[in-house]
Amino acid sequence: MHGHIPVLIVGGGPVGLALAAELGWRGIACTLIEQTDGSIVTPKMNEVNTRTMEFCRRWGIADQVLNCPFPGDHPLDAVFVTSLFGYELGRVARPARDQQTPEPASPYRLQACSQIWFDPMLLQLARSFASVTVKHRHRLESFAQTREEVVAEVTDLATERHHTLRADYLVGCDGAASLVRRTLGIALTGTGTLGYPLNMFFRAPDLLRQSGRKPGTFFIVVDRGGVWGNLRIIDPVRGIWRLMVDQAGDEVTPENADRQGYLRHALGRDVAVEWIDVNVWRRRSLVAERYGEDRVLLAGDAVHQLSPTGALGMNSGVGDAVDIGWKLAAVLKGWGGPRLVESYDVERRPVGRRNVQMATGFYRHNEGFSHWSPVVVEHSAAGDRARRQLGALLEEGVGGEFRTLGLQIGYAYENSPICVADGTPPPPDDTTTYVPTARPGARAPHVWLAPGKSMLDLFGRGFTLLRFAGAPDPAALSKAAAQRGVPLEVADIASPEAAALYQRRLVLVRPDGHVAWRGDEVPADAGALIDRVRGAE
Ligand SMILES: Cc1cc2nc3c(=O)[nH]c(=O)nc-3n(C[C@H](O)[C@H](O)[C@H](O)COP(=O)(O)OP(=O)(O)OC[C@H]3O[C@@H](n4cnc5c(N)ncnc54)[C@H](O)[C@@H]3O)c2cc1C
Repeated sequence: MHGHIPVLIVGGGPVGLALAAELGWRGIACTLIEQTDGSIVTPKMNEVNTRTMEFCRRWGIADQVLNCPFPGDHPLDAVFVTSLFGYELGRVARPARDQQTPEPASPYRLQACSQIWFDPMLLQLARSFASVTVKHRHRLESFAQTREEVVAEVTDLATERHHTLRADYLVGCDGAASLVRRTLGIALTGTGTLGYPLNMFFRAPDLLRQSGRKPGTFFIVVDRGGVWGNLRIIDPVRGIWRLMVDQAGDEVTPENADRQGYLRHALGRDVAVEWIDVNVWRRRSLVAERYGEDRVLLAGDAVHQLSPTGALGMNSGVGDAVDIGWKLAAVLKGWGGPRLVESYDVERRPVGRRNVQMATGFYRHNEGFSHWSPVVVEHSAAGDRARRQLGALLEEGVGGEFRTLGLQIGYAYENSPICVADGTPPPPDDTTTYVPTARPGARAPHVWLAPGKSMLDLFGRGFTLLRFAGAPDPAALSKAAAQRGVPLEVADIASPEAAALYQRRLVLVRPDGHVAWRGDEVPADAGALIDRVRGAE
């Protein structure tokens, strides 16, 4: 534990683990400290979105996620019900993994892969790199930074011994209560607390079959007050469920919660289940004022806390990890410029704000949904009609949180100091619809170049210069990159589909798969362009 380390990561939740994996994948030495033993009794996150799946593809673990214990034939449908054993009002179809048709915009669709499986995959991946050290039961106590380094005081909780760690950079992935953020004096801003939900986990292997309901994964319980809560099947094989009550109130505790009463409300009858865990949490809508200071950076829930409506919390944090990961790697390898790390805040904070706003929007929509008529629970033709009407409204309105491709992959780094804007207007930033674009700042779009080979597979290790038909010789760019030690590969792209999508004859893509620059001619000052995109201008 002694000696100097390039990157100290505090927190071994999914975001810290993703950062350790990203740095390890880039050959950067880092140490991750996590105060717990890393075991997860009950999960928070259950959905790995399309963009995170694309990162998993680059890390080589996408197949592991696809083969996680969540059965491939279990539909991911979100179903609106009066109760699990009651009436079905509507359904947003989300096919089972085995039935998913290819998504034109990405090699993957969003997957059901709970944290109980995903975090161990990230841990195993991080540990597979010789440059990564993961220390469980180690707690950060305090830290201070100078111009040259960060000095951290850490306790080994197994031995109660104290250690001093010296690092070039410290990244706080230490969650909502982040000690790192508080030490830096960085405030969170936004609406604040939206509600006090209650999560109850139980085992009931036969519940779905007993209910007689067509399978789904997420059952949203709607009553006369509107959206009341939801039941989620986390592990259909072992029969692990989560019941979430949206507004349990701030006085409810795991000890005084009327578990059986809430369960009766959600199921519509009494059923004996094996309780596993109960916890209360706060639904929040907050973003940090800054994503770090000099050598200390922050990522994940430490800087954005959002409603799980839209499944964006961890997925946003993984995006943070990938952005700061390549930048730290570039600086530590010597080719990243002095302003590269600063660009992390400029790029990721607006994305954090966007995602928090969109997640809050979904929640507000659910909260404000009240189109109930007592006829809905009548066993009659009028009841059928009322249920169809309510179901259509639910599918259209509340269902929006399950149609989020635009949200997942449509974010872009507008106004980034390390991207060169080309004056083209951005497509609408819509939660549902993703409009592919190769504008600087955007995620470089996916196109299949050959069976099994995505355009995305060309991106990652360094910069990639895409050269389309008729492009001029880009030797000046390659030379300028080589002179500065910037890794740059030139890839010739013959696909007419890709050419139509990318719209320029030369497109420079960053190691994180975002477009840095595009043009039809090699710029007169190739060195200035390379300096700009490596944060040296
Ligand atoms: C009900 C619910 C459902 C959700 N569903 C989804 C979903 O489907 N998809 C999604 O993307 N997100 C989802 N989320 C959000 C997601 O769970 C969080 O955004 C994610 O866990 C944040 O990861 P993190 O690593 O930033 O923080 P955390 O998971 O909070 O991890 C922080 C870690 O830091 C450690 N730590 C803290 N302080 C110290 C210290 N001083 N020293 C050492 N270690 C320390 C902690 O022990 C912890 O392990 C959901 C959240 C909830 C509540």
